[in-house]
Amino acid sequence: MQSFPGFIFQFVLCLVLYMDLHSKVQSLPKIGPAFVQKLENLHIFTVRDLLFHIPSRYKDYRLRTVIAEAQPGEVVTIVGTIEEFKNIFTKYGKRIQQGVLADESGTIQLVFFNQIFLTQTIKKGMKLAVSGKVEKFNGKISMMSPEYEIVYNEEKPLLHTGRIVPIYPETKGISSKWLRHKVDLVWNTIEERLIDDYLDQGDRDELHFQSLQSALHTLHYPSNFDEIVDARRRLAFDELLRLQIIAQKRKIEWQANQSAHKLTVDKKALNDFLQSLPFTLTDSQTTAIDQILLDLKELKPMNRLLEGDVGSGKTVVAAAAIFASFMNGFQSIIMAPTQILAEQHYQTLTRIFEPFKLRITMITGAGVKGDIGRNDVFVGTHALLNRDKLFEKVGFVAIDEQHRFGVSQRALLSKKTGSKNKVPHVLTMTATPIPRTIALVAYGDLSLSVLHELPKGRQPITTWVVPPEKRDSGYEWIGKRIDEEGIQVYVVCPLIEDSETETMKDVKSVTAEFERIKVLFPNKKVLLLHGRMKSQEKTDVLNQFREGKADILVSTPVIEVGIDVPNATIMVIEASDRFGLAQLHQLRGRVGRGEKKSYCMLFSENKSKVTLKRLRAMTEGKTGFELAELDLQMRGPGELYGIRQHGFPELKIARWDDKELIGLAKSYAEKIIGDKDKIQKVLFEFRDEKDIAKN
Ligand code: ADP
Ligand code: MG
Repeated sequence: MQSFPGFIFQFVLCLVLYMDLHSKVQSLPKIGPAFVQKLENLHIFTVRDLLFHIPSRYKDYRLRTVIAEAQPGEVVTIVGTIEEFKNIFTKYGKRIQQGVLADESGTIQLVFFNQIFLTQTIKKGMKLAVSGKVEKFNGKISMMSPEYEIVYNEEKPLLHTGRIVPIYPETKGISSKWLRHKVDLVWNTIEERLIDDYLDQGDRDELHFQSLQSALHTLHYPSNFDEIVDARRRLAFDELLRLQIIAQKRKIEWQANQSAHKLTVDKKALNDFLQSLPFTLTDSQTTAIDQILLDLKELKPMNRLLEGDVGSGKTVVAAAAIFASFMNGFQSIIMAPTQILAEQHYQTLTRIFEPFKLRITMITGAGVKGDIGRNDVFVGTHALLNRDKLFEKVGFVAIDEQHRFGVSQRALLSKKTGSKNKVPHVLTMTATPIPRTIALVAYGDLSLSVLHELPKGRQPITTWVVPPEKRDSGYEWIGKRIDEEGIQVYVVCPLIEDSETETMKDVKSVTAEFERIKVLFPNKKVLLLHGRMKSQEKTDVLNQFREGKADILVSTPVIEVGIDVPNATIMVIEASDRFGLAQLHQLRGRVGRGEKKSYCMLFSENKSKVTLKRLRAMTEGKTGFELAELDLQMRGPGELYGIRQHGFPELKIARWDDKELIGLAKSYAEKIIGDKDKIQKVLFEFRDEKDIAKN
């Protein structure tokens, strides 16, 4: 039998020898399968992940005091000896754990609730450090459920008390205390062999960053709060840098080994086309078209994002590229996320290309419409991807509302539509006003064109925030508008749960609203639309509404942002506080599409000042971009039109609005992108690289 110290020695040696940062967590002592499972919830798989599990906040337990000087209301740390500790029953049958802690100056009562096993841990005579708020309880100076730690060795610094104590993201069965303990174990075992920093000293000096090792140490063992800010900045940079590198790599891969057809454009022919439109282009439409035509002339395939508010006229920009492709003898594809939007594009394109004899085919889940022989333009949904046999010579692809498709689909589409080592030029279009910083991070690989303004002559939409007490008069006013002006109305309900697709709960709630509206407007024709309806049903409902056969359409927000019914001039949004401002703006963009004055009524039962301030921003004539920026400031990025839902990467440490750091990461990524070793090193440090890349 080995002596006790010998056993410890062997044990530590074992760790040093067999554990490195990339070891699985189960190589740590006392981590069995149950813990492994729980740690997975926190995305902790390796020892390294544990070190990179960054505290979300801290508790300041630095103030030490002797018991006699502990003042009620103060948060302090006291070290003393346990004089007694026991379970007691209260009058109401509850069990509390009560003890007395003493130091040379006096005694303090400790109280815990419902931890009956604590008496097996904390025992008379033990040296204990406690941190927490000093209170009066039953007339005695006390600490209630303090953070505590048994002091075995006075030389060893305190871990859970007596310092700035980190609080980690937790999960069921994994507390911050547990994590602190494991991090401490790892840190003390492998500190000397910590990962080398991919930023060498020269880079770090230039960028004014500390080493990775020092940043991690600070975050787990801070000695003041300023230091934490600096350390987080270093890790935030790393996080942003990785995203930038992934984007840059994507850009290089997009361009490497694939070439597109050079599409040169006869200015006169294009002008004839543009002149034939029933309106003049806005300045930003002209700029965007110029940018696109320049790209099309290259052998390098275009990969461009066209951002523009609802109604800013993105379709005609895409149409100019389709026309250019046609003039060069190539086909084009325009892909929409839904059947309804595809049909709308089909109608628009058929109309504007009619004088130029382009043959247009629509392919959706419902089948094929138009000529299937020789085609110039394919319009459709996902179903297009299954008809790649039809594509002979595709020069240009436009994807509408791209965030719903994502990068992988974009790649698939270009693969399926390419021919003889040639890929099409790709334009993706979105009405989501993505603040510039977010576009830089999430779409760093795309060139960007932005439509800043709406076509002239568009009437601004008057928006009101309607409090509960004005609801009735609001409905009365709506009824009058329908009667006197024959206009139509949208009523939009929020989704109940934060998910992209509608749940049965959502269907129930929108159906309830539909029933309510029918009662409120007994002599009006009301229709219901939600995402769970069959595709044909949806199309029927929308066609009826478009043809003016109904007065009111009650729907979930999932109905398409691109719907164009000029006679619908009032939009009512229920529980509007539940939406992001950018999303409200998109919804609102469905009215104001005709000659008549349009209105948006934001109903909200929520009376908090912040909510009202947010909603009031909707009444101030701001653009989608301004609203998105404002929401980014007011609600934070997580809420911003559901970042996750749109396939944007999630940031753990960095902030979406940290323009300076995002800029720094971008330029550094550009600088090192040619340095294979360095890139390899950066990416190697982040296990979940693949998750991000596949998005
Ligand atoms: P979105 O950017 O939301 O996709 P659309 O392309 O559907 O916008 O255009 C919205 C409406 O504005 C369409 O009816 C379109 O014909 C019209 N439109 C586009 N450009 C202009 C313009 N420069 N002047 C006037 N109307 C325009
Ligand atoms: Mg559109």
